[in-house]
Amino acid sequence: MNIDKIPFYQHDLGAPELASVAEVLKSPILTTGETVANFEKLFAELLGSRYTIGVTSCTGGLHISLLALGIGEGDEVITTPMTFIATATSILEAGAIPVFVDVEPETGNLDANKIEAAITPRTKAIMPVHLYGQMCDMRSIKRIAQTHNLYVIEDSAHCVEGRRDGVAPGELSDTACYSFYATKNLTCGEGGAITTNNEHLADKLRLLRSHGMNKTASDRAVEGYSHWDMVEMGWKYNMDNIQAALLLPQFERLEQNWNKRKILFERYTEILSGVSQITVPQIKAGVVHGYHLFVIQVDKGLRDQVISYLQSNGISVMVNYRPVHLMTYFRTSFGYNPGDFPIAEEFGDGAISLPFFPQMQITQVERVCATVKDFFAQFPDRKNVSNDFARVASTKK
Ligand SMILES: *Cc1c(COP(=O)(O)O)cnc(C)c1O
Repeated sequence: MNIDKIPFYQHDLGAPELASVAEVLKSPILTTGETVANFEKLFAELLGSRYTIGVTSCTGGLHISLLALGIGEGDEVITTPMTFIATATSILEAGAIPVFVDVEPETGNLDANKIEAAITPRTKAIMPVHLYGQMCDMRSIKRIAQTHNLYVIEDSAHCVEGRRDGVAPGELSDTACYSFYATKNLTCGEGGAITTNNEHLADKLRLLRSHGMNKTASDRAVEGYSHWDMVEMGWKYNMDNIQAALLLPQFERLEQNWNKRKILFERYTEILSGVSQITVPQIKAGVVHGYHLFVIQVDKGLRDQVISYLQSNGISVMVNYRPVHLMTYFRTSFGYNPGDFPIAEEFGDGAISLPFFPQMQITQVERVCATVKDFFAQFPDRKNVSNDFARVASTKK
């Protein structure tokens, strides 16, 4: 019955990861130790950052990045509503206030041209999100941050391999945070990392990820017991050796998997750009895409019907994202209403994420596309309006 199902995502962890975890199980240290240090070294090299701090989630990484920069009660942080809720809730966890700025219609990324209008005397930082793996315009964001003396923290949960104008995540910011959650390009089930080029920040983040203790459990196991102290208020966010063991073998497949996703992304684009009712992802000049998600835009009046049709044909899909400001909690706590960030709403209301993972077969991509086309054959005249808008914008670049 289920033979023909196409999953939304499938991890490719297997024999190399089993062997790597088996090695850790032979050692006495399961928590943060040498394997985490090995992961941190490789990840820093990959991103060209001086330091990596392994944590248990991207959300935790964003939270302690804010705290390490002294951001808290009464401070404002500018971010995007077109993201997973964790971007905004990390700001709330730090005691600060998320201030949303609308997005670009073509990419769904934070619109750098709209940031300055949202800056107030309480603004302390900008938190851009590299949506679907396409980086924001970090050079512009950095320029604005410098002019107004703001910190920059990147939510790079979607972007490890992506670059823009030769810039890597973490290169122009104070910290960049990554996610190794179950469906991310690199995964260990649950996990995350922070990169930074600032030694003082790196030291502080290591304290904050581990209760604010000045010695780790692994230090004590290796060196023998000596008194430790709690020197700061800290959290329990330290990545452990088992998580690191799951991540390490994946570095060897990183480029190969990126290439596989690139081929799938391009095949999807090739087929679906010929369908007038669909907008395919728009990629800006100077962008090397990270290829995390493949998200199309359709007429928002038909979006949920498209989802049902795909699901009833055995094709799993997601929506990334329904905008954060319209979640019940944000509406009731902050009084947001539909219309507050119209471009993000338009973008989110038309978005459908199609199945996308490295071992996906080209024939599966073609079947997804054929099913989408079948659906729209019922609505030959239903053009995606926002679509034309995006196409015009992208040809003008
Ligand atoms: C997955 C995700 C997060 C949260 O990552 P966790 O590791 O699950 O905390 C944050 N922001 C974005 C954009 C994400 O996609």
